[in-house]
Amino acid sequence: MVISTTTISHAEESVNSTFASRYVRTSLPKFKMAEKSIPKDAAYQIISDELMLDGNPRLNLASFVTTWMEPECDKLMMASVNKNYVDMDEYPNRCVNMIAHLFNAPVGEDETAVGVGTVGSSEAIMLAGLAFKRSGRTKERLKANLSTSLTLSLVCWEKFARYFEVQLKEVKLRVGYYVMDPVKAVEMVDENTICVAAILGSTLTGEFEDVKTLNDLLAAKNKETGYDTPIHVDAASGGFIAPFLYLELEWDFRLPLVKSINVSGHKYGLGYKNIIGNCMENAQMLSKGLENMGCFEILSKDVGVPLVAFALKDSTKHTVFEISESLRRFGWIIPAYTMPPDAQEVAVLRVVIREDFSRSLAERLLSDSEKVMKEIEELPSRVSNKVVHVTSTVDEVKGGQGAVHKKKSVKET
Ligand SMILES: *Cc1c(COP(=O)(O)O)cnc(C)c1O
Repeated sequence: MVISTTTISHAEESVNSTFASRYVRTSLPKFKMAEKSIPKDAAYQIISDELMLDGNPRLNLASFVTTWMEPECDKLMMASVNKNYVDMDEYPNRCVNMIAHLFNAPVGEDETAVGVGTVGSSEAIMLAGLAFKRSGRTKERLKANLSTSLTLSLVCWEKFARYFEVQLKEVKLRVGYYVMDPVKAVEMVDENTICVAAILGSTLTGEFEDVKTLNDLLAAKNKETGYDTPIHVDAASGGFIAPFLYLELEWDFRLPLVKSINVSGHKYGLGYKNIIGNCMENAQMLSKGLENMGCFEILSKDVGVPLVAFALKDSTKHTVFEISESLRRFGWIIPAYTMPPDAQEVAVLRVVIREDFSRSLAERLLSDSEKVMKEIEELPSRVSNKVVHVTSTVDEVKGGQGAVHKKKSVKET
């Protein structure tokens, strides 16, 4: 029950018209709780109006986080919202076991898997890293280190390193190759390495890192040196994609050195075959459409997390940052960023394809992109106003594509 101190006349005002009530007309304190209570309908209106000004999540193509679920899922979530999730005695669940089997954990018929539900992959990564650090594997705990790839998801790995005093050894990227090179990762392993972390679904390009090769190289190194360095797979975005689309891909507990995996339910956690297949088709359609525009180079691959990462072929006059800004006018939230070292000269736009990104939204995005490119091409170059270095790099692309990659890139100083 809401106890209201409003006078009768004001209460009537708010019953008849929320917007005309004094609560909605005069602003409430911004950073403090109001002295007096207000009617619940006025509070609801004020808060929902403020939320309305947030970006539209459906048009926010920056995020991997699920923005639409079937109404049955919404209902189940609402039915569980009042449960104290950590109270496993009262609210046991079987999800950890289901996921362990999905990831081919060597769990016998009458055994249960070891795992834990967390708030998200960030927390899972902290727990897994800490378990590796405490396992007594390293000779000197203070010198503990972890070898991983340098991608955007690094934020949570960086947090782990800082909170738990572990040195991160990062494998640098290079132009044309945006995942961890397993050879370099294994070279970095020493007697104090607590684990090597691979990412299934790079946040940059959606590409899966080659966990199988990493496993084989690391197994050889372990044999040679007597270490027993394990692998952790950060499958936050790809863990619910690979088991449905790429059944033959060995990335999980089938590989002997993979000792732990994290996965985010809120990213493709509804990853059944048809849903993911549909996302992949929409990603391919968007990717083809952007490629046909002629000005973009597609960096994402056909295999991986359904996303489209693309760069301007020529960024001497305009940049992806201008494109991102202009698309915002149509409501689209599409991030633009420069790649991490040593590929900083490449700047990309990234569109994450989720279940609710329908074919018609993809068509709309393409036509809005065409409008934006036409507009931008007519504008005077913004880049020329600044000091720029235009570098031309020629790079052999690794991984069997055999292509020679020419890129003109712009570095602002
Ligand atoms: C999203 C993401 C994370 C962080 O996951 P949360 O569930 O948001 O905490 C970690 N690693 C990768 C590869 C990710 O994509």
